[in-house]
Parts: sequence; C-alpha cells; structure tokens
Amino acid sequence: MERTLSIIKPDGVRQGVIGEVIRRFESAGIRIAAMKMLQLTQAEAEGFYAVHRERPFFESLTRFMSSGPIVVMVLEGDGVIARNREIMGATNPKDAAPGTIRKDFASSVEQNVVHGSDAPETARTEIAYFFSEMEICA
Ligand code: UDP
Repeated sequence: MERTLSIIKPDGVRQGVIGEVIRRFESAGIRIAAMKMLQLTQAEAEGFYAVHRERPFFESLTRFMSSGPIVVMVLEGDGVIARNREIMGATNPKDAAPGTIRKDFASSVEQNVVHGSDAPETARTEIAYFFSEMEICA
C-alpha cells in the first residue's frame, strides 16, 4: 500500500479548512494513517524544503511555512501519491482545476493550502521528517 505525506499549510489552518481538507481525502477513500499539529521553526521549514534552497522563493516560503501551526498527515491508499496531487490541484491556484483544494482555497502560488509528496522516494523522506514508524497506524 502506497503512502504519502500531506501538510495543511499555515494558510489552510488559518482559514479553518482542516476539516474540509480531511473530508476530501476521506471521501476519496484515502486512509489517514498518522496525523499531528505542530509549528515549524524557520530552520525546520528550511530542512523540509532543502531541495528548493537555491530558488528565489525559498526565504519567503520558509517564513510562510513557519508562520503558524500546520497539520501533517500520512495518507495511505493505492496510488495515493498521484491521487493526493489530483485532489490538491496545480501549484499555482490560477492553473488548478475546478473542484481541487488549491482552486477552492489557495490565495497565491506560495500560500496554496496543502503540500503533497511528488514521488515514492520523496514520500519516504518527507514522512520520516515528521513521523517515526511507531506513530504510523497500520
Ligand atoms: N512555491 C512558491 N513560488 C513558486 C513555486 C513554488 O512559493 O514560484 C512554493 C509553493 O508553496 C509550493 C512549494 O513552494 O507548494 C513547493 O514547490 P513545488 O514546485 O514543489 O510545488 P508543489 O509540489 O507543492 O505543487
């Protein structure tokens, strides 16, 4: 069974759409195998987004990601990495398909409500960044 890391970003928590995001996952038959709320320090956000270190938006992105609490989840299901990214929609809400989370709730390419791993290897690394194996329910 495939796993992916999902994050409800600070703008999603501030808007009060935690329940709505989770509802969309569960309605799609995706199982939540782990979940917690926490606030990242900017250094922790930099660690999570290390692949984007050289990008011009890195400083602003990591400041945003540490600006308030986030909800991190391990999602589980067949093909859940791709299915989660479909439910999320394109990175830029302007390009996101109707009915996706980002189309409905994102305010900009940076403040786009949710994160989802993009491949099996990234999913493994990103899950391990937040959860020990003991915190993931079988
Ligand atoms: N991002 C940004 N400016 C950009 C592109 C991306 O602030 O021009 C932020 C945005 O929050 C995005 C995150 O960086 O979700 C990671 O970018 P990626 O291209 O991996 O998009 P994702 O996989 O989140 O759709």
